[in-house]
Amino acid sequence: MSRFPGVDYLMIDSQFSEQELMVRQTARQFVDERVLPLIRDCFREGRFPAELIPELGRLGFLGATLPGYGCAGMSHVEYGLIMQELERGDSGLRSFVSVQSALVMYPIFTYGSEEQKQRWLPRLQSGEAIGCFGLTEPGFGSNPAGMLTRARHDGAGWILDGEKTWITNGSVAGVALVWARTEDGIRGFLVEKGTPGFSSSDLHGKLSMRASVTSSLSFSECRVPESAMLPGAKGLKGPLACLTQARFGIGWGVIGAAMDCYETARSYAVLRKQFDDRPIASHQLVQEKLAHMITEITKAQLLALHVGRLGDKGKFDPAHISMLKRNNAAMALDCARLSRDLLGANGIMDEYPVMRHLCNLETVKTYEGTDHIHALVIGERVTGVAAYK
Ligand SMILES: Cc1cc2nc3c(=O)[nH]c(=O)nc-3n(C[C@H](O)[C@H](O)[C@H](O)COP(=O)(O)OP(=O)(O)OC[C@H]3O[C@@H](n4cnc5c(N)ncnc54)[C@H](O)[C@@H]3O)c2cc1C
Repeated sequence: MSRFPGVDYLMIDSQFSEQELMVRQTARQFVDERVLPLIRDCFREGRFPAELIPELGRLGFLGATLPGYGCAGMSHVEYGLIMQELERGDSGLRSFVSVQSALVMYPIFTYGSEEQKQRWLPRLQSGEAIGCFGLTEPGFGSNPAGMLTRARHDGAGWILDGEKTWITNGSVAGVALVWARTEDGIRGFLVEKGTPGFSSSDLHGKLSMRASVTSSLSFSECRVPESAMLPGAKGLKGPLACLTQARFGIGWGVIGAAMDCYETARSYAVLRKQFDDRPIASHQLVQEKLAHMITEITKAQLLALHVGRLGDKGKFDPAHISMLKRNNAAMALDCARLSRDLLGANGIMDEYPVMRHLCNLETVKTYEGTDHIHALVIGERVTGVAAYK
């Protein structure tokens, strides 16, 4: 049985089906039994727990929403619940599953040729192959439209030149989905590890997402066959549609990190005694923080559930997802900071998960569209005026 009791102030569990609760329970148990015993050491050592990848595949967590090719064909809400539980373990683990599922498998499924799907999807689903998504460049993060990476047509194939950076799974991936500018607009290319002219190197010195591999990719006269290009993706809307899928998972995932921070602070506050041998939970200022956290978590749960149900009806759009990602990432960071505060000096120790979540969530606020950029997406939706430039 799972050791984590869950966080459900408003009986939101009553809104989930038996099947959804079963999927959550499976993910919850996996995190309790397989992730929590090793994640602190992984974070300390700056190591991704690659030994968990085959199990992620066996449990159906990779490419979970896709139908066919060995994938589980789960609903958006089931996928969201998996991400929530994985990020309760660690944002780095959830990032791995996000990238593999939403940023590599989803585009191959949506934009790929039948040959590309047959070749990659079953292996990515089982975890036999790892993928990465190369969009960000050293000079172009929030504004990927400015990318400098180029692909030029040459005989029966393409030649890629350019640099990508901040790429999750970059050096461990067997296949990189690389977005490059062509004469015909931005296109996606599947570049296999070992292709001459393609190299990668890891970024070191991260104080966040330490249990995740982050790399730079370099392409120098890198020749790939014609069949490496995703035929169905043309223009920036290709990668942006993938990011919408991934941001949906983030909007759910961060709730897990927030739940863990809240539950850690709540249980600490009822045990820790100060002033006249009374638990710190008896102080009004402490209760106010816990009340704030549980209220914000509950609002985030409702937002995620509603957007998930919209997704299952095929009705969410990128501006909905911007609100989900922006609100829930900020909420989780806020909870992590409050929890760290309530634990006093213990809050900075990795014996507790809080500081690790807090550090990870600083990345989550930035990647997949920063807080500012999502505010601008929402601003554009409500005013009709784009204010990015
Ligand atoms: C651990 C990690 C993993 C990552 N994984 C991947 C990955 O797998 N694949 C990938 O392609 N990328 C990845 N990224 C990159 C990530 O998506 C970018 O860092 C992000 O898009 C922000 O880009 P930037 O860092 O260049 O910041 P910048 O774009 O330089 O932004 C810096 C600051 O300026 C603000 N800003 C920029 N433009 C505006 C504006 N118009 N209005 C208001 N404010 C603005 C931003 O909000 C931010 O506060 C990852 C990043 C990290 C940290």
